[in-house]
Amino acid sequence: MRVEFDRDTCVGMFQCVAEWDAFEENRDDGKADLPGAEEVEEDLFVAEVPPDAELDAKFAARTCPVDAIELYDDDGDQVV
Ligand code: SF4
Repeated sequence: MRVEFDRDTCVGMFQCVAEWDAFEENRDDGKADLPGAEEVEEDLFVAEVPPDAELDAKFAARTCPVDAIELYDDDGDQVV
């Protein structure tokens, strides 16, 4: 599973941080950070989701109020 994080869309409410510890608060920027993710284009970050983190990742994606977090399965189909 792959996560895509649109940091430009993120409004820094930090619900994702409570759901999945891959996300960190960046209060200076008023945005979440996804450390270790690759910035594939400006403010769009992509990372592999470890199998044991898939449930947390789904909760994080579902809780984001602005849909800044998307998940894709290994076939490239969007899961959340
Ligand atoms: S829940 Fe969404 S808007 Fe809030 S910090 Fe996380 S990615 Fe940003």
